[in-house]
Amino acid sequence: MINNQVVTTKSLRCLILVGKRNGMTKQALKLKKHGLRVTDARLQILDIFQTRAYALSQPDLMELLPATTDRVTVYRILERFVQHGLLHEVADFSGAIHYALCKEQCDEAKHRHDHLHLHCRVCKTTQCTNILLPEFSLPTSFKIEKTSLLMEGVCGDCSQAGLQ
Ligand SMILES: [Zn+2]
Ligand SMILES: [Zn+2]
Ligand SMILES: [Zn+2]
Repeated sequence: MINNQVVTTKSLRCLILVGKRNGMTKQALKLKKHGLRVTDARLQILDIFQTRAYALSQPDLMELLPATTDRVTVYRILERFVQHGLLHEVADFSGAIHYALCKEQCDEAKHRHDHLHLHCRVCKTTQCTNILLPEFSLPTSFKIEKTSLLMEGVCGDCSQAGLQ
């Protein structure tokens, strides 16, 4: 907000440059907030997640990154992002792992992901929803460590396009 006010006093050229830099800074701050060192590859990957509405698998991600990107580096970054509360994993019914951005409240100590995920079996996209898992009365001896709530079907776009 403060930055935007400063920007309005500058020329249009400066505004574009500062705008770009602010975008980077925002992602860099997010990395730092989650206890991660800022690297170009991390910023690039975070940027991709920030601009997609769907969860992405590692192969999806590789297609969006420059061809020279190293697979192992990407794998390690995804692993770190999950550990540090930036991304959460969602497996579809085939077992393929997709990664989705965490909400603000996630951090290294606590990921909270008891929301419903929808997986389209036609276009293979997985999306997060705001629908939360209902309260169950579970045996008291059972300690929950992970929760996954997934439904598979055909998404709105695929249905409209007549894809089955
Ligand atoms: Zn999380
Ligand atoms: Zn679909
Ligand atoms: Zn999710």
